[in-house]
Amino acid sequence: MTNPILELNDICYSYHSPKGETDALSHISFRVKKGEFLAIVGPSGCGKSTLLSIIAGLIPPESGEIHFASAPEENPEKRCCPRIGYMLQHDHLFEWRTIYRNVILGLEINRQLTPEKKERALELLKDYGLYKFKDKKPGELSGGMKQRAALIRTLLLDPDILLLDEPFSALDYQTRLSVSSDICNIIRSTKKTAILVTHDLSEAISLADRILVLSKRPARIKCDIPIHLTISGNSPLASRNAPEYQGYFNQLWKEISDENYIQLPQIARPASE
Ligand code: ADP
Ligand code: MG
Repeated sequence: MTNPILELNDICYSYHSPKGETDALSHISFRVKKGEFLAIVGPSGCGKSTLLSIIAGLIPPESGEIHFASAPEENPEKRCCPRIGYMLQHDHLFEWRTIYRNVILGLEINRQLTPEKKERALELLKDYGLYKFKDKKPGELSGGMKQRAALIRTLLLDPDILLLDEPFSALDYQTRLSVSSDICNIIRSTKKTAILVTHDLSEAISLADRILVLSKRPARIKCDIPIHLTISGNSPLASRNAPEYQGYFNQLWKEISDENYIQLPQIARPASE
């Protein structure tokens, strides 16, 4: 792979507590290209959030190495650490702040609240249909709108890599479809590199360029599947009608069922059999 923005080599991690040791990650190695959208699927509790926390630098790996490469186009020799945005399952908006004051919170904390950035915040609120709600409190908005506000807060810090930890799982199915579609379009149009943890196989296939399947704990990489869908347009909803979609779904379902973490439905047999 030429010019990966992120490279993990042989990462291992265990949690140590008075109750004992929990091995979470085992020899994880992979690379992510600039602008790539990677999805990670795996059993609940296998180590997905641990992996994102290591990439975000919140916890150091126990062994192995992690490399970032961000070479500005105007000066490819100059390498620096990319900025990382981390979006979690819950929007973590503060109820006592308006939507506008929530989206600028990261800028305030990072002392980047310039007039240009304030202008950019208002532009993004307009682009993502939240401008007329900018003076409302989070409790007055739907779950999907709050997730969009959380994404704007993350995007305003202009991250090079976006980490998304099951960001749609608190939403109902219909909202989830439209918000994931919106958010995917936002990420694609801003050409961000994104790593999405999800347990929804359809979501992974329709959004990602590549899917890593993790084994049960301690997580190792079970397979790495590039996704190529022949569908016109760039809508994750339309992708579900691509002719290749079902093949990928079956392949992922098989990998996941082999890990024995999804109970296959029991099909009741008729009494006469
Ligand atoms: P996932 O995101 O795939 O559901 P996590 O990365 O959150 O899994 O957790 C992996 C394993 O590590 C789980 O068994 C979890 O209980 C354990 N774990 C997570 N955080 C801690 C912690 N702070 N201390 C001890 N064990 C932890
Ligand atoms: Mg998790």
